[in-house]
Amino acid sequence: MFVLLSNDDGIQAPGLTALIKEFARRHEVAVVAPDRERSASSHSITVHKPLRAQQMDTKLGATCAYAVNGTPGDCVKLALTTLLPKKPDMVISGINRGSNLGTDVFYSGTVAAAFEALLHGIPAIAVSLATYGEETDYGLSAAVALAVAERLAAKPVLSRTLININVPDLRKADIKGVRITRLGIRQYRNIFEARRDPRGQTYYWLAGEPVVGTNSVDTDIAAVEQGFVSITPVAVDLTDYEGLQQLQSWENEIDT
Ligand code: MN
Repeated sequence: MFVLLSNDDGIQAPGLTALIKEFARRHEVAVVAPDRERSASSHSITVHKPLRAQQMDTKLGATCAYAVNGTPGDCVKLALTTLLPKKPDMVISGINRGSNLGTDVFYSGTVAAAFEALLHGIPAIAVSLATYGEETDYGLSAAVALAVAERLAAKPVLSRTLININVPDLRKADIKGVRITRLGIRQYRNIFEARRDPRGQTYYWLAGEPVVGTNSVDTDIAAVEQGFVSITPVAVDLTDYEGLQQLQSWENEIDT
């Protein structure tokens, strides 16, 4: 395969390095990633300032690598339309430092990079490791991402759906297996910390930690809490088809 790798933690992030090494052993790899951390940038794109793509060292095994002064969405869009010599067979985003579970997917730059690939008709995988530790081993997550990518390539059943992988921060021997899951609802407590600036004015800093144990067992959140690798198919089509049925009569009931 020819794969494009991206992320939202920036081109120097160890999670991306692990992904490059793992995929380059067996596949042709291109890297286009933000030049700095752009976590929680969601699917934003840059339209009011120029984008620059700086060619980077490819010593890890990639055939080309670019650092872009934009968001993950910018990176994938620019790669697919402009930078890459040919269309990739798949786009893999990550490995994110920290999980992207449940409603996190709305804020995640990691998932957005995969979404951008889907909008171009290219199969996509987002992969995240559930830890914020500095001394983190991404090797296991990279191996899982490769296994999932090769399986998806062999049997491309999903055309409008990305695969969102979350790996618990455990040693290989302690991982209980794989669960196919749905997105849960991620709730946070103590979301904003209120502080005082030197002039006595209050400011707010988004922080907060997730509330544990409120999601049913079939969710991605519960799977990772219980020590399973979670694999969630996430559709690009946000239409609520039940709602479509329920609102049908409005066509005749709302005056224009
Ligand atoms: Mn991130």
